[in-house]
Amino acid sequence: MASITLNNIVKKYDDGFPAVNNVSLDIADGEFVILVGPSGCGKSTLLRMIVGLEDITSGELQIDGTRMNEAAPKDRNLAMVFQNYALYPHLTVYENIAFPLRLAKDKNGGGGGGVGGGTVDERVQKAAAMLELTEHLERKPANLSGGQRQRVAMGRAIVREADAFLFDEPLSNLDAKLRGQMRSEISQLQRRLGITSVYVTHDQTEAMTLGDRVAVLKKGILQQVASPRELYEQP
Ligand code: ADP
Ligand code: ADP
Repeated sequence: MASITLNNIVKKYDDGFPAVNNVSLDIADGEFVILVGPSGCGKSTLLRMIVGLEDITSGELQIDGTRMNEAAPKDRNLAMVFQNYALYPHLTVYENIAFPLRLAKDKNGGGGGGVGGGTVDERVQKAAAMLELTEHLERKPANLSGGQRQRVAMGRAIVREADAFLFDEPLSNLDAKLRGQMRSEISQLQRRLGITSVYVTHDQTEAMTLGDRVAVLKKGILQQVASPRELYEQP
């Protein structure tokens, strides 16, 4: 778990126009913040800067109070959850969840990886139990519901013991019914795990129901940060 602090973050692409313009935001340990705004307002850019897939032009990113602007993605220990889940279709649920641990193990010469305690099996079993996937560990993604697939994707983030989840419009490809189910799954899961989360969406319902606070971005500028209730009660 970790706090994430953005201080006057600016992103200029090659055209010199600020896609993200002087954004400051304190995200507390365990908090669930929704980042909302129209297409092109800079949401993905901001998320990619936090996870380290995009350079920060100016300003400072801190994770747990430490400057992280220059840190490689793997040193930020944040887990991105994408809309397509990015599961491996030929691997079982078990192997999909274990994948990041096996990767870390290989990179570290078979020493068990630099990722927390316990064997791979212990950690996969623990994550699966948390996500109520224990009975489905031998299944392939194609034989799972959309909700179960989403949980496998989160399982991967959990075994890595990521400090925060970054969601990039994870439900945007789903139909309305499934989106509703998934919305409550994600909300319950985040609350159960208490992991700091930043969730990008352009969906008003998600914005108003999922998070502790909603950050409204428009043309790269942070317009407002408020609880859903405060936003709702506004004239
Ligand atoms: P959102 O996620 O809110 O739709 P983006 O962060 O994708 O917004 O984009 C913000 C602005 O930055 C847009 O004007 C977009 O065209 C521009 N942009 C995004 N990615 C790039 C890039 N790789 N190169 C140049 N401009 C980009
Ligand atoms: P390398 O070959 O340099 O290790 P990778 O593509 O394997 O490059 O990624 C390096 C590290 O970056 C990974 O171990 C992981 O911790 C982190 N990383 C990559 N993609 C993501 C992502 N989508 N979300 C979170 N972290 C990521």
